Amino acid sequence: MRALTQKSFNPVAVCCDGISNDLIIVEYPSKLIEDAVNEVAKLPGIGKKTALRLVLHLVKEGQHKTTALTEALNQLRSQIRFCNTCHNISDEEECGICKSHRRDKTVLCVVEDTQDVMAIENTSQFTGVYHVLGGVISPMNGVGPSDLKIDSLVTRVSAPDSQIKEIILALSPTMEGDTTSFYINRKLSALPLKITSIARGVPVGGDLEYADEITLGRSILGRTLFN
Ligand SMILES: [Zn+2]
Repeated sequence: MRALTQKSFNPVAVCCDGISNDLIIVEYPSKLIEDAVNEVAKLPGIGKKTALRLVLHLVKEGQHKTTALTEALNQLRSQIRFCNTCHNISDEEECGICKSHRRDKTVLCVVEDTQDVMAIENTSQFTGVYHVLGGVISPMNGVGPSDLKIDSLVTRVSAPDSQIKEIILALSPTMEGDTTSFYINRKLSALPLKITSIARGVPVGGDLEYADEITLGRSILGRTLFN
């Protein structure tokens, strides 16, 4: 007779919410699993169901896999640095783009995050420098201008030794992106700068990182005066 302990064990009780067909986890077999799932599910784009699958996968893997993951994350957290000038992720005090003599220091492109820098670099259509805001103004999510690198942008472009002549606003064409562009434009309007924004080849409401390279490249080349 098959022993009861060999019976396949369904670790969680699940039910269907009847609307989205998503499984809703109603009971965890362990508080440790529940805590881990709740933490993983805080990551963007990860729901409770995916979080549970990842956590159970880690449980199944050997201890060394989990240790390698936690060590990589701890190292990332403790050693990650941001460029003092443009705030892009960097291994040094100043990033490769800011340090490069081949970049055009008269044109500065304002973006939301590092993924946008990567997307624009992939187009090979931009040779200027960047300023990474670290987000966009979003009252709904409690993000105000002071939470972003906007003051640092104003200080950077108004410095006596600044070579910047043009600011390209390359924020996502969402309500938050537009609000941020308007705010920055107002902050910089007194300075002798040309302020442009990328052409709307990027789909309205879409993120820059999802625009294909050709569309994004064209929208940088076809930029127009802001307003
Ligand atoms: Zn930099």
